[in-house]
Amino acid sequence: MDFPQLASCRICPRDCGVNRYTGTGFCGAGSNIKIDLAALHHGEEPPISGTKGSGTIFFSYCNLRCVFCQNYTISTGGKGYELSCEELAKLMLKLQEQQAHNINLVTPTHFSPQIAESLRIAKEAGLELPIVWNSSAYECLDTLESLDGLIDIYLPDLKYAHGIYAGKYSSAADYPQVALAAIKAMYKQSGTLQTDEQGFATRGTIVRLLVLPHGLSGAQTSLHRLAEELGTEITLSLMGQYYPAGKASLHKELQRGITEQEYQAVVDTAIQLGFTSVFVQELSCSDAWTPDFIGNNEAHSDPPIACVNPIMENCL
Ligand code: SF4
Repeated sequence: MDFPQLASCRICPRDCGVNRYTGTGFCGAGSNIKIDLAALHHGEEPPISGTKGSGTIFFSYCNLRCVFCQNYTISTGGKGYELSCEELAKLMLKLQEQQAHNINLVTPTHFSPQIAESLRIAKEAGLELPIVWNSSAYECLDTLESLDGLIDIYLPDLKYAHGIYAGKYSSAADYPQVALAAIKAMYKQSGTLQTDEQGFATRGTIVRLLVLPHGLSGAQTSLHRLAEELGTEITLSLMGQYYPAGKASLHKELQRGITEQEYQAVVDTAIQLGFTSVFVQELSCSDAWTPDFIGNNEAHSDPPIACVNPIMENCL
């Protein structure tokens, strides 16, 4: 199938205008879907991983390409294999057969038209699971609009509050305003987090804030913006697993994990602002913080606590 959007690609805010049938733009992706892995994944937030795992599909390439990316060989190196929309649809159905709680599309933005088509094929063939859009939020409103009705759960990052660092580490100085607008659109489409009787997510938005060392992500500022512009009912996931990966070694200030104090300051800000649904992680004294989510999505006055999952890296 031909996708007219790919002939002069403006799928994301990079606005490359390249013909992806004959070349590539910033993300590195051509016209064919490419993935590195599809598997049941137990390292996401509890309502996403559930008990049987999230049916996670890791797409190759990325339109943000952060220097500290933990999946650098996939996001920038383009590691993976190509498949057609029909094959991707079959893969989703296979994950459903394996009892995945949902289909979790990781770094999907640059393949939006092909994924939308795959979802239509899969849904027609019996796919009933909630669909999770797990992205960097560096996305165009038009692209998100084209996904309305296909996606049930949005799981966007809000990586930076300050353009200077978004520019330095992700070559996207406009990231803070672009991502906030994208998250607003996602929230408008999907609403607050809904779960079934077993506590597994069926619909809604969870915003992930990765805490970088030295306050470089500006997570506390991002929390203030979210509270002001979207309110405090939106579910948050405060991520403390940063460790130097990818090309982080080229930046002295990125060469350590975060401290407990840095992480706790972000948790405290979320609580002070009155967010009622927050997932937090337990930090251990390690070079690599493990993303063991401990939390729930119920209203609380103290930081939520519970449950341990393996780290995402183990699944790759
Ligand atoms: S999806 Fe890729 S080619 Fe298209 S605008 Fe974004 S970065 Fe450029």
